[in-house]
Amino acid sequence: MARYKDAVCRKCRRIGEKLFLKGERCYTPRCAVERRRRPPGNAVPRRRRPSEWALQLREKQKARLTYGVLERQFRKYFDMARVRPGVTGDNLLQVLETRLDNVIYRLSMADSRQQGRQLVNHGHFTVNGRRMDIPSYLVEPGDAIAWKRGGRNGSSPQFIQDLTVGIPKRPVPPWLRLDVANLTGEVASLPEVTEIETGIDARLVVEFYSK
Ligand code: SF4
Repeated sequence: MARYKDAVCRKCRRIGEKLFLKGERCYTPRCAVERRRRPPGNAVPRRRRPSEWALQLREKQKARLTYGVLERQFRKYFDMARVRPGVTGDNLLQVLETRLDNVIYRLSMADSRQQGRQLVNHGHFTVNGRRMDIPSYLVEPGDAIAWKRGGRNGSSPQFIQDLTVGIPKRPVPPWLRLDVANLTGEVASLPEVTEIETGIDARLVVEFYSK
């Protein structure tokens, strides 16, 4: 499967703002955007007003990189959003937000979406009691998400115990419910656009694909 292999922070520098792809580090002065505002590469950036198309492309890339989705998959999500009733841009954000790797991140069970994706890939979660290792699985209201208990005595590996110390590390959005005592989560409803904090202007993304 195709995979982005370049340094993660280059994505933020290319877009020109923080996409919060690396967990803790993003909130420290070690963040690459804090240290170097210039885009990656040696070329001196030209100071001219970006075209409308360039702004739309940038917003589409920002959405895609934020959720760690490749181009073809992103286009599929857009087509899915377009046929749903309602506003296409809002539907697109809703689809992206309900990806399992994002839900794990939102539930504060992973420090970043990328880590959420890796944990899901490695089979550390169950959805409705069944092991789920597909990060792009789209959750639905009522879905119950839990760590998969390993070992003969039902305990979790040490790194999971370390990871779950201090949960929740971030506020959990109202469309999700986190049971801190049992370290489980539940999807209470589909996210409203007002509950999705990404700073993405979905209208520009829709305009990009509507050409
Ligand atoms: Fe982006 Fe985080 Fe890297 Fe900063 S530390 S450039 S926010 S991924």
